[in-house]
Amino acid sequence: MNPIGIFGGTFDPIHFGHLRTAFELLQSLRLSEVRFMPAGNPPHRETTVASAELRLAMVRAATEDQPGFVVDDREMRREGLSYSVDTLASLRADFPDRPLCLIVGMDAFLGLPKWHQWRELLELAHLVVAHRPGWRAPSMGPLGELLVDRGTGRINDLHESLAGCIYIHAVTQLEISSTEVRKLIASGRDPRYLMPDSVRAIIQEAGCYKRTDGRK
Ligand code: ATP
Repeated sequence: MNPIGIFGGTFDPIHFGHLRTAFELLQSLRLSEVRFMPAGNPPHRETTVASAELRLAMVRAATEDQPGFVVDDREMRREGLSYSVDTLASLRADFPDRPLCLIVGMDAFLGLPKWHQWRELLELAHLVVAHRPGWRAPSMGPLGELLVDRGTGRINDLHESLAGCIYIHAVTQLEISSTEVRKLIASGRDPRYLMPDSVRAIIQEAGCYKRTDGRK
Protein backbone atom coordinates (compact mmCIF):
# COMPACT_ATOMS: atom_id res chain seq x y z
CA MET A 1 0.00 0.00 0.00
CA ASN A 2 1.24 3.46 -0.86
CA PRO A 3 2.59 5.75 1.86
CA ILE A 4 0.49 8.34 3.66
CA GLY A 5 1.86 11.89 3.64
CA ILE A 6 1.42 13.94 6.79
CA PHE A 7 1.61 17.69 6.47
CA GLY A 8 1.55 19.50 9.78
CA GLY A 9 1.62 23.24 10.27
CA THR A 10 -0.05 26.12 11.98
CA PHE A 11 -1.65 27.11 8.65
CA ASP A 12 -2.21 30.63 9.96
CA PRO A 13 -3.37 30.98 7.18
CA ILE A 14 -2.93 28.16 4.63
CA HIS A 15 -1.54 29.45 1.30
CA PHE A 16 -0.52 28.23 -2.16
CA GLY A 17 3.03 27.45 -0.95
CA HIS A 18 1.56 24.74 1.30
CA LEU A 19 -0.95 23.49 -1.27
CA ARG A 20 1.42 23.28 -4.21
CA THR A 21 4.01 21.46 -2.08
CA ALA A 22 1.44 18.92 -0.89
CA PHE A 23 0.09 18.39 -4.42
CA GLU A 24 3.51 17.87 -6.00
CA LEU A 25 4.48 15.38 -3.28
CA LEU A 26 1.15 13.56 -3.57
CA GLN A 27 1.84 13.00 -7.25
CA SER A 28 5.57 12.48 -7.46
CA LEU A 29 5.95 10.28 -4.38
CA ARG A 30 2.79 8.33 -5.29
CA LEU A 31 1.28 8.96 -1.87
CA SER A 32 -2.16 7.51 -1.25
CA GLU A 33 -3.14 10.76 0.47
CA VAL A 34 -1.77 13.86 2.13
CA ARG A 35 -3.18 14.50 5.60
CA PHE A 36 -3.21 18.15 6.58
CA MET A 37 -2.87 18.37 10.33
CA PRO A 38 -3.37 21.86 11.73
CA ALA A 39 -1.48 22.25 15.00
CA GLY A 40 -3.57 22.78 18.08
CA ASN A 41 -1.20 24.41 20.49
CA PRO A 42 2.21 24.63 18.81
CA PRO A 43 5.07 23.97 21.27
CA HIS A 44 7.93 25.78 19.52
CA ARG A 45 6.38 29.05 18.56
CA GLU A 46 4.27 31.78 20.08
CA THR A 47 0.52 31.72 19.95
CA THR A 48 -1.28 31.66 16.64
CA VAL A 49 -3.18 34.70 15.35
CA ALA A 50 -6.34 32.99 14.06
CA SER A 51 -8.22 30.61 16.37
CA ALA A 52 -7.88 26.85 15.98
CA GLU A 53 -11.45 26.66 14.60
CA LEU A 54 -10.78 29.28 11.97
CA ARG A 55 -7.47 27.72 10.90
CA LEU A 56 -9.21 24.36 10.60
CA ALA A 57 -12.04 25.90 8.56
CA MET A 58 -9.49 27.48 6.20
CA VAL A 59 -7.64 24.18 5.74
CA ARG A 60 -10.92 22.38 5.04
CA ALA A 61 -11.98 25.00 2.49
CA ALA A 62 -8.58 24.93 0.77
CA THR A 63 -8.43 21.16 0.38
CA GLU A 64 -12.02 20.05 -0.21
CA ASP A 65 -11.85 19.90 -4.02
CA GLN A 66 -8.67 17.85 -4.28
CA PRO A 67 -8.97 14.04 -4.20
CA GLY A 68 -6.25 12.66 -1.93
CA PHE A 69 -6.19 15.71 0.34
CA VAL A 70 -7.51 14.77 3.79
CA VAL A 71 -7.91 16.99 6.86
CA ASP A 72 -7.06 15.43 10.20
CA ASP A 73 -7.84 17.50 13.29
CA ARG A 74 -6.42 15.11 15.91
CA GLU A 75 -3.84 17.65 17.10
CA MET A 76 -6.60 20.15 17.74
CA ARG A 77 -8.67 17.64 19.67
CA ARG A 78 -5.79 16.72 21.95
CA GLU A 79 -5.41 18.60 25.25
CA GLY A 80 -2.16 20.43 25.90
CA LEU A 81 0.86 20.78 23.64
CA SER A 82 0.92 18.87 20.37
CA TYR A 83 4.25 17.18 19.76
CA SER A 84 4.86 15.58 16.38
CA VAL A 85 6.17 12.41 18.04
CA ASP A 86 2.80 11.91 19.81
CA THR A 87 0.88 12.65 16.63
CA LEU A 88 2.96 10.13 14.69
CA ALA A 89 2.54 7.50 17.42
CA SER A 90 -1.21 7.97 17.20
CA LEU A 91 -1.15 7.68 13.39
CA ARG A 92 1.09 4.62 13.61
CA ALA A 93 -1.52 3.00 15.88
CA ASP A 94 -4.22 3.75 13.28
CA PHE A 95 -2.13 2.59 10.31
CA PRO A 96 0.20 -0.15 11.59
CA ASP A 97 1.11 -1.45 8.10
CA ARG A 98 1.43 1.73 6.09
CA PRO A 99 4.59 3.76 5.41
CA LEU A 100 4.14 7.23 6.90
CA CYS A 101 5.90 10.26 5.39
CA LEU A 102 6.14 13.35 7.57
CA ILE A 103 6.40 16.33 5.21
CA VAL A 104 8.35 19.35 6.42
CA GLY A 105 9.79 22.42 4.72
CA MET A 106 13.57 22.84 4.79
CA ASP A 107 13.21 25.63 7.38
CA ALA A 108 11.32 23.26 9.67
CA PHE A 109 13.84 20.46 9.03
CA LEU A 110 16.73 22.70 10.13
CA GLY A 111 14.95 23.22 13.44
CA LEU A 112 14.39 19.48 13.95
CA PRO A 113 16.95 18.99 16.77
CA LYS A 114 14.80 21.31 18.91
CA TRP A 115 11.74 19.10 18.53
CA HIS A 116 10.66 16.91 21.41
CA GLN A 117 12.20 13.39 21.07
CA TRP A 118 13.27 14.22 17.54
CA ARG A 119 15.34 11.08 17.00
CA GLU A 120 12.29 8.94 17.65
CA LEU A 121 10.39 10.54 14.79
CA LEU A 122 12.32 8.39 12.33
CA GLU A 123 11.28 5.21 14.14
CA LEU A 124 7.68 6.15 13.37
CA ALA A 125 7.85 7.76 9.94
CA HIS A 126 10.01 8.77 6.98
CA LEU A 127 10.86 12.43 6.69
CA VAL A 128 10.17 14.15 3.39
CA VAL A 129 11.83 17.54 3.22
CA ALA A 130 10.47 20.08 0.74
CA HIS A 131 13.01 22.57 -0.52
CA ARG A 132 11.88 26.08 0.32
CA PRO A 133 13.31 29.29 -1.18
CA GLY A 134 16.36 30.55 0.67
CA TRP A 135 17.10 27.39 2.67
CA ARG A 136 19.83 24.82 2.01
CA ALA A 137 20.27 21.28 3.25
CA PRO A 138 22.79 21.03 6.11
CA SER A 139 26.11 19.29 5.36
CA MET A 140 27.47 19.31 8.93
CA GLY A 141 26.28 18.88 12.51
CA PRO A 142 23.70 16.37 13.73
CA LEU A 143 21.41 16.91 10.73
CA GLY A 144 24.27 16.59 8.24
CA GLU A 145 25.20 13.27 9.87
CA LEU A 146 21.60 12.15 9.91
CA LEU A 147 21.35 12.86 6.17
CA VAL A 148 24.42 10.74 5.50
CA ASP A 149 22.93 7.86 7.55
CA ARG A 150 19.30 8.07 6.54
CA GLY A 151 19.12 10.15 3.35
CA THR A 152 17.84 8.48 0.20
CA GLY A 153 17.17 9.58 -3.36
CA ARG A 154 14.95 6.55 -4.08
CA ILE A 155 11.21 7.06 -3.89
CA ASN A 156 10.81 3.29 -3.68
CA ASP A 157 12.58 3.32 -0.29
CA LEU A 158 9.59 5.28 1.02
CA HIS A 159 7.29 2.52 -0.25
CA GLU A 160 9.33 -0.48 0.83
CA SER A 161 9.78 0.32 4.53
CA LEU A 162 7.45 1.84 7.10
CA ALA A 163 9.79 4.52 8.48
CA GLY A 164 13.39 5.67 8.84
CA CYS A 165 14.43 7.39 5.58
CA ILE A 166 14.94 11.06 4.78
CA TYR A 167 14.05 12.16 1.28
CA ILE A 168 14.68 15.72 0.06
CA HIS A 169 12.42 16.85 -2.74
CA ALA A 170 12.65 20.02 -4.81
CA VAL A 171 9.17 21.48 -5.16
CA THR A 172 8.15 24.53 -7.17
CA GLN A 173 9.52 27.46 -5.25
CA LEU A 174 6.71 29.71 -4.17
CA GLU A 175 8.06 32.34 -1.89
CA ILE A 176 4.92 32.72 0.20
CA SER A 177 4.83 32.56 3.98
CA SER A 178 1.93 32.90 6.37
CA THR A 179 3.83 35.64 8.20
CA GLU A 180 4.05 37.74 5.02
CA VAL A 181 0.39 37.06 4.22
CA ARG A 182 -0.64 38.26 7.69
CA LYS A 183 1.48 41.41 7.32
CA LEU A 184 -0.01 42.11 3.92
CA ILE A 185 -3.57 41.84 5.26
CA ALA A 186 -2.66 43.94 8.32
CA SER A 187 -1.47 46.69 6.01
CA GLY A 188 -4.85 46.68 4.26
CA ARG A 189 -3.80 44.85 1.10
CA ASP A 190 -5.56 41.95 -0.63
CA PRO A 191 -4.06 38.40 -0.39
CA ARG A 192 -5.67 37.36 -3.70
CA TYR A 193 -3.61 34.83 -5.76
CA LEU A 194 -1.58 33.84 -2.70
CA MET A 195 -4.29 31.47 -1.47
CA PRO A 196 -7.54 29.91 -2.71
CA ASP A 197 -10.47 32.33 -2.99
CA SER A 198 -12.40 30.20 -0.49
CA VAL A 199 -9.73 30.87 2.16
CA ARG A 200 -9.62 34.57 1.31
CA ALA A 201 -13.42 34.72 1.73
CA ILE A 202 -13.19 33.17 5.22
CA ILE A 203 -10.53 35.70 6.22
CA GLN A 204 -12.62 38.59 4.92
CA GLU A 205 -15.75 37.33 6.64
CA ALA A 206 -13.99 36.81 9.99
CA GLY A 207 -11.98 40.04 9.67
CA CYS A 208 -8.91 38.28 10.99
CA TYR A 209 -5.28 39.43 10.59
CA LYS A 210 -6.47 43.06 10.34
CA ARG A 211 -4.81 45.68 12.50
CA THR A 212 -7.08 46.52 15.37
CA ASP A 213 -5.48 49.85 16.31
CA GLY A 214 -6.90 51.57 13.21
CA ARG A 215 -3.44 52.35 11.73
CA LYS A 216 -2.37 51.14 8.29
P1 ATP B 1 4.76 31.27 9.33
O1 ATP B 1 5.23 32.31 8.34
O2 ATP B 1 3.60 31.73 10.20
O3 ATP B 1 5.89 30.62 10.11
P2 ATP B 1 4.57 29.24 7.24
O4 ATP B 1 4.16 29.92 5.98
O5 ATP B 1 5.99 28.80 7.41
O6 ATP B 1 4.08 30.09 8.49
P3 ATP B 1 3.53 26.87 8.56
O7 ATP B 1 2.09 26.59 8.81
O8 ATP B 1 4.39 27.22 9.71
O9 ATP B 1 3.59 28.02 7.43
O10 ATP B 1 4.19 25.73 7.68
C1 ATP B 1 3.81 24.40 7.68
C2 ATP B 1 4.83 23.64 6.86
O11 ATP B 1 4.81 24.12 5.51
C3 ATP B 1 6.27 23.80 7.34
O12 ATP B 1 6.91 22.54 7.25
C4 ATP B 1 6.86 24.80 6.35
O13 ATP B 1 8.25 24.62 6.19
C5 ATP B 1 6.11 24.45 5.08
N1 ATP B 1 5.96 25.60 4.17
C6 ATP B 1 5.42 26.79 4.46
N2 ATP B 1 5.43 27.61 3.40
C7 ATP B 1 6.02 26.93 2.39
C8 ATP B 1 6.35 27.25 1.01
N3 ATP B 1 6.09 28.46 0.49
N4 ATP B 1 6.94 26.29 0.27
C9 ATP B 1 7.23 25.07 0.81
N5 ATP B 1 6.94 24.71 2.10
C10 ATP B 1 6.35 25.63 2.88
